[in-house]
Amino acid sequence: MTKVAVLGATGMVGQRFVQLLENHPWFETVCLAASDASKGKQYGPAGNWVLDTEMPEFAGGMAVSGCTAKEVADSGAELAFSALPSDVALRVEKELAAAGIGVVSKAAAHRMDADVPLLIPEVNPEHIGLIEAQRQNRNWAGFISSDPNCSTCQLALALKPLQQFGPQQIIVTTMQAVSGAGFPGVPSLAIQNNAIPFINGEEEKMEMELAKMLGTLENGAVRHANMEVIASCNRVNTQEGHLESVAIEFADRPSLADIAQALEQFRGAPQQLGLPTAPTQPIVVRAEPDRPQPRKDWSAGNGMSVTVGRLRQKGSYTLFSCLASNTIRGAAGNGILHAELLHKRGYI
Ligand code: NAP
Repeated sequence: MTKVAVLGATGMVGQRFVQLLENHPWFETVCLAASDASKGKQYGPAGNWVLDTEMPEFAGGMAVSGCTAKEVADSGAELAFSALPSDVALRVEKELAAAGIGVVSKAAAHRMDADVPLLIPEVNPEHIGLIEAQRQNRNWAGFISSDPNCSTCQLALALKPLQQFGPQQIIVTTMQAVSGAGFPGVPSLAIQNNAIPFINGEEEKMEMELAKMLGTLENGAVRHANMEVIASCNRVNTQEGHLESVAIEFADRPSLADIAQALEQFRGAPQQLGLPTAPTQPIVVRAEPDRPQPRKDWSAGNGMSVTVGRLRQKGSYTLFSCLASNTIRGAAGNGILHAELLHKRGYI
């Protein structure tokens, strides 16, 4: 078993990591770390558990650790899942990598660094190769490998099988659940009976991260995909699952049947390798006119599948809606699948 730590374990994404790591066949959780406000407390009371399932038994009695490299290394962890705020991650993750620990990060801090993979295992598994350059550039025994922003993750998955048709322009409007803002997140009086047409930094993240993930690895560097992305991000009063309305102009003009087939038949490295957290079908296509819906579809494929529906054409645009769990596929689930791929490829 590989010993792992969860940094930011008391937060929204950290709790998902703790939930999904229970009984993991390859990873044993030996360290739950958070801020000085939680350090030293038992995880049970400190965790402020917000998920619908019971807190895993292994976690309740563990003492919350701090996030320094020494504290994490002393726990025996070889790998750390980071669910820290970005400003904290910027400092902590480098210290851990320098101390020989592998970091799979949910934070934005290092996503756009040229030598850091930004990874969805089904989309760009070959970008793992950047770790070699990173270790040389930075003289680290460990590494940092990043996960994308939650709203970008599901869209990149839906776009991957459509890249063959030459997407030129992608216009996306998101309706993002409140759990995407962490806990306690958006104040209830701000979001109750309301929608907020602004999420700080989210549109820029979608535009930049998509181009990196859909880019190609050439001579040890990623050449970003050449396409225009225009994102408008909204916070809405749903609990889990970001819904996105997408319009794409393709260079080729694929038929709707070609698009549906490409989405449904798409499988990636995790499915081929049989990784423990891989969904059987990464993309589920629904024919009903009123799907996907956050409440009905967020848990498709145990929260790891993207549901696509409302597939149609208007003028030169192909339109669809897509949805996935923001805390599982958009966060902890993708992080664990990412670590499973690193494990399989010998990086941990
Ligand atoms: P959150 O609920 O606010 O949790 C933040 C966690 O970080 C808590 O465990 C907190 O510990 C810890 N923390 C805060 N300041 C710290 C410090 N100075 N030192 C050490 N630990 C500290 O946030 P979240 O939604 O889980 O998000 C975590 C990260 O994942 C963020 O970078 C976010 O952008 C990213 N992300 C979130 C989602 C999502 O759906 N929520 C999806 C993708 C990516 P205490 O409890 O002790 O304060």
